[in-house]
Order: sequence, then structure tokens, then C-alpha cells
Amino acid sequence: MSIVTFPLLALIRHRMETDGEGVTTLAVGAGCPLHCKWCINKKLLQEGNPQNATAEELIERVKVDNLYFLASGGGITFGGGEPLLYADFISEFRKLCPPQWKITLETSLFIPRNYLAAVTDAVDLFIVDCKDMNEDTYRSYTGEDVSVMKENLEFLLQRIGPDRIIVRVPLIPEYNSAQAQESSAGELRDMGVKRLNLFEYVIRS
Ligand code: SF4
Repeated sequence: MSIVTFPLLALIRHRMETDGEGVTTLAVGAGCPLHCKWCINKKLLQEGNPQNATAEELIERVKVDNLYFLASGGGITFGGGEPLLYADFISEFRKLCPPQWKITLETSLFIPRNYLAAVTDAVDLFIVDCKDMNEDTYRSYTGEDVSVMKENLEFLLQRIGPDRIIVRVPLIPEYNSAQAQESSAGELRDMGVKRLNLFEYVIRS
């Protein structure tokens, strides 16, 4: 039997409406296929080694806030890093955790399709950080091809509809503009995205 684990960099409790609905605990995982210029995950990774947690171990640590989750409709948010790298772990966590806990993923959707397809039923809310919809901007900021994210978002919209998807559209210092941000938002609305969150990256040196 193989044991699936999650490379936990940090566990942040009592988040209110910032990483999903209700009171949430944010599980920050290591590893991501993108190379964003202002990434904080890579800095975290350099500062400390992740602990590989099984689903049972993580539930044991998180359940201290069970009453908050139940009272507020919250639960656990997997972020990072790219949590979809650990799709098997998330499916396992869903099977073992209390059914009332909400599971939220913060993802770039830059991931092979089968990783995403494996968790669509296990996840209550997807928060997609789309970076920018423009091909050149996306490549210059992340080093990769925007079409992977766009095609995965189309797949997700078809598979689960727009209600369980929030797309975050950042204003990225030195890479895009308020006009470009609005242009990305317009393209996303045309795709059928209903829940958009426009915000600005705050860069800390
Ligand atoms: S998607 Fe997030 S974790 Fe991945 S490189 Fe970009 S900022 Fe870092």
C-alpha cells in the first residue's frame, strides 16, 4: 500500500473569509511548476523544510478547530505552492475528514488535466489565481504557457459550473496594469466565470 503525504510548510489557523468561506485553516504546501517573479512560496521553502503529513496526521492537527468549522461553514484550505500536485492526498483527506468540513483549493490550474479531474468532486471551492490572461504577460511573469490554465478553467466550468469557482485577478507590479487586469476580467466573464476577485499584489522585500 502506498502512503500519500502532503509537504506541509505551514499551518495557519483562524483565517476569516480570506481563503474560502467561514473560518478556515490554511495548509501551505511546498512545490509548484510555475516560476512567478514575486512568489513567496519559494522563499518559505528556502527558510524551512516541509514536514510530510499523512491525511490522518493533518486531520489530527486541524481538528482542534472543528467547532469553528461547523459553526461558520468553514474548513481547510490547501494552498502553497500548487496543492493540485497532491491530488491523491486531497482525495484521501476528503474521505477521512468530517463530511461537514469544507475543502478549498488555492490553485494556479497550471497542472496536468488528470490531477484536476481527480479532485473536482472532493473540493467544495476552487480559488484560481489566474495571474493574467494575456499570453505574453503570463509567460513573462510565470515562465509558462497561459493556455494550460485557460483550458483547465474551461474544463472546470463545464464540469462543476461557476458557483464553486472564484477567480482572482491580480494587479502585478511591473508586469501588468489596471487596464490589463480589467481586460483579463472581461475575458473571464465571457468564459462564464461569475465570481471574480480583483486585487493588487503587495510586494514585501
Ligand atoms: S503559482 Fe504561486 S506558488 Fe507557484 S510560483 Fe506562482 S506564486 Fe509561487
